[in-house]
Amino acid sequence: MRWEELTSDEFAKAIVDSNRTCVLPLGSMERHGPHMALGTDTFIAHYVATNAALSEPVVVYPQLFFGQMFDVKCFPGSITIPPKLLLELLLAVLDDIGRNGFTRIIMYNCHGGNAPLAQYVCQSQMAEKKPYQVYSLFYNANISEDDMARMEEMWDTPGGGGHAGESEASLLMAYRKDMVQLDVLNGWVGEHLGRLDHFKPGSAPLMWYGNYPDNYRGDASGASIEKGKVFAKAMIDGLARFIRVVKDDTTAGEVIEEYFRRERELQEDPKEHEA
Ligand SMILES: [Zn+2]
Repeated sequence: MRWEELTSDEFAKAIVDSNRTCVLPLGSMERHGPHMALGTDTFIAHYVATNAALSEPVVVYPQLFFGQMFDVKCFPGSITIPPKLLLELLLAVLDDIGRNGFTRIIMYNCHGGNAPLAQYVCQSQMAEKKPYQVYSLFYNANISEDDMARMEEMWDTPGGGGHAGESEASLLMAYRKDMVQLDVLNGWVGEHLGRLDHFKPGSAPLMWYGNYPDNYRGDASGASIEKGKVFAKAMIDGLARFIRVVKDDTTAGEVIEEYFRRERELQEDPKEHEA
């Protein structure tokens, strides 16, 4: 169920039909090599979420193009908003989804640069008790081993490449073929430059950019709609399974209750907690 396509009255019913579960797709607006649309990650996140909702009813939040993109500002068309505002925005969006009556919110993230942010947003829910619970899933984190093995056979490049590579280009082609222009590549491959690899296993600013200064990793030339459909199905099934786990779960709420009860007790009678 797409939030923006429901009438207000249908929305009230959808809250019940979804077991008060909403999926918030997270993406980006950033360069995807010279050949793919800027909004790729958001399109894919929303596409997978709306298809997963067909088998596991949830309300899917409208497409959101804000995300962590401070490492891609040098490219035309990136959308960035100040860091504090971005965090405030995501927290406000979650509160507003909760205000609408949802008690389970799943952030489904398809932009690598959002991963630490999504985790921090999840953790920061414990700053104060909320009337809803937040969960998160990274796009490929719940794909089955069978699907992974099948796709490994399918890709021309190891693991399907990466950002704007064979796998992501295939996904976008399955969603909308006209947003991928393989002909502009002319044999161009997004090589791993490793300019900052000497900091590993630590980290330094612009680790990703240091490797891929055109936001293109791998070789997209073998991308196809057919491969994209296989990858999309694996992602859709993975998200649907995660939605089921979230809907069936009764433990997370108990753990959160226990956590806040202990915090309250600590404030009421700190001596109880002395060693
Ligand atoms: Zn992407």
